[in-house]
Order: sequence, then structure tokens, then C-alpha cells
Amino acid sequence: MVLWLLFAAFYLLPWLRWQGRQALLLDLPARRFDVFGWTLWPHDVGWLLLALGAAAASLAVLTTLAGRPWCGFACPQTVWSHAFAWIERRFADWPAAARHLLWATVALWTGVSFVGYFVPIADLVARLHPFAWSGGETFWVLFYALATWGNAGFLRSQVCRYLCPYARLQPLLCDRDTPLVGYDAMRGEPRGARAYGTGSIAQRGRRLLDPVTARDYAVRASIAQLAGQGGSRGEALAAYAGTLPKFSAEQLGDCVACDACVQACPAGIDPRNGAHYACTACGACVEACDRSMDRHGFARGLLRLAGANAIDRQPRHWWRRPRLLGGAATLLAALLTWWWLAA
Ligand code: SF4
Ligand code: SF4
Repeated sequence: MVLWLLFAAFYLLPWLRWQGRQALLLDLPARRFDVFGWTLWPHDVGWLLLALGAAAASLAVLTTLAGRPWCGFACPQTVWSHAFAWIERRFADWPAAARHLLWATVALWTGVSFVGYFVPIADLVARLHPFAWSGGETFWVLFYALATWGNAGFLRSQVCRYLCPYARLQPLLCDRDTPLVGYDAMRGEPRGARAYGTGSIAQRGRRLLDPVTARDYAVRASIAQLAGQGGSRGEALAAYAGTLPKFSAEQLGDCVACDACVQACPAGIDPRNGAHYACTACGACVEACDRSMDRHGFARGLLRLAGANAIDRQPRHWWRRPRLLGGAATLLAALLTWWWLAA
């Protein structure tokens, strides 16, 4: 729902009028930005930088506090990938050419709307027929349309994985109390396939592992998986991981090693291996794991959105967190400077 609202807002915003002018217009040739009745001129660049600084600090605080709601709900890459994937599913029985035509139409209108933030959109659309766009307008509409078509139609989570700088910053912004999609290794390890009806650890009365042993099993299982890929790297990893002990059905944890989580992940991440910068917290792996738990009659939540401290049953910190305090101090400084300059 949030994704569709943001999708619609992008197309509608340039059409909004405010005091007789386009409400949001970044008119570069005139060196004038209109933002809902507030006009910024070149000498106001300080305000703009302050606003950008405050927005960056807000995003940092939000990330430390809540994980990746930006990636999951508000990032344009997520919003447009969601829309394009919806078209793909909804019109799956149409010929591929027709679906591409739909994608191309949405992409072209996205390009027009994007340029409409920089050129009065009513005028831009009026000059469509007879066609009277400048070379620059045509280039940017087509460029943005092509970028939308490629990124949302084909690249999707590859953009998060390989291109997004924010994804790379995640480990710096998150701490052990930041809610991320996490694997309850104390409950799930040692993992292993088993017959239905063997019972969860709670049903069998097996205690939770301690966090260090649980993480050791999880790491060695993931290395063993990589080692299985063969080659000299595989051999080195196998030597490093050592041989995992054989566990009896009674010793197994609740992870049934079905790999449903990995198969459900659009980025191909194994969430049991710990936080991954390309994870957009979409929750697909959590839902897949819950379904697996349901099939076995185990409690849900082996994969869940929670901080590492909560998952490891360690004390949680609400505000004594260096990243949170640093982000909040930067935001406060930006807001105080704004207030001081405005006074
Ligand atoms: S499926 Fe899980 S691991 Fe993959 S991106 Fe979504 S939340 Fe992250
Ligand atoms: S879906 Fe759940 S049970 Fe299956 S492999 Fe992933 S974590 Fe283990």
C-alpha cells in the first residue's frame, strides 16, 4: 500500500499547483526552486545544504532505530521494481511483447514526470503534440525512461547489491539493537533435514544453544556450503571449517535446512549467514520460513525482524547507542543552525 501511494505521489506531485505556480519546480535555467510557496534563489544554497544535511541525518537515525524501512518502503528502486513486478505477474498470460510495451509506457511517463520536476509539466505535456521539446528535454525523458525500464524491469535487487551506496553504509549505521532480518541460531542450530513429526526443540525439551556455539555451527555450516562449490577456494574453506559433527535427530535445532528462505530471497541471500548489505528487509524469507515452520508444526519466528541482542537473548539498549547519539546530535545541529539562521 505504502509503495503504491509513493508511486502515485511521484506522478501527481508535479501537477500540484500552489499560489498560481507549480508547487514543486526546480527551474535550473532560471536558478529558482519553488517548494510549496517557498522560493529558493542561488544565494539560498546554504538552506538547501542544511535541508539535505538534516535529511541525511534523519535517514541515519531512522536506519539505526528501525533498520531498513527506507529500502523496504520508500526507495524509488524498490517502488518501481514492485510496480514492474506487479505488471509482470498481473499480465503473465499476455505475450512478452505486450508486457514490454506496458513497461515501456510506464517508463516513458516516469521520464516525462521526472523532467516535469525541472520544466513546468503542463507546458511540457502541451508540447508533446505537435512535438516541440528541446534536445535536452528529449534526452532526459528518454534517459530516465531507459533507466527506469532497465533498473525496475531487469536489474531490480542487483542495483541494491552492486550499485547502491546506502546499502554499503548499512553496517556503519546499524548496531546490535537495530531490527534486521535475523536468524535465531540458538534455536535453529544445528540445522538438518528430518522427517515430519520429529518435534521442535520446545516439543522435545531440547534447550537453546548458547550464542557462541550457535553462531559457530551457523558459520561452519555456511562455510561448508561454500566449500561444497569446489575449487581451491572450496578446499581452503573446507580446511578452515573443519568437519561438522554428525548430529542425531534429537540434537537437531529447528532449522530443517529446506533452503526455502534462500529460494524466496530476490537477492539470493542466505539470511542464516548474518546481516547482508544487499538485504532490503522485504520479509520474503521470513514468510517462507514461517510456512516451513507451519508444515512441521513448529513455532514461527525462526527468521524474524529483530536486533541481534534480542535474538541472542542479550540485554537491549534503547538509547545508549553511539550511532544513534551521533546521528541525533548531527540532526539537532542542523536544525539548530536552521533556527539560528532564520531568527
Ligand atoms: S528475502 Fe530476506 S534476506 Fe532476502 S532481501 Fe528479503 S528480507 Fe533480505
Ligand atoms: S526457511 Fe527456515 S527452516 Fe528452511 S532453511 Fe531457511 S531458516 Fe531453515
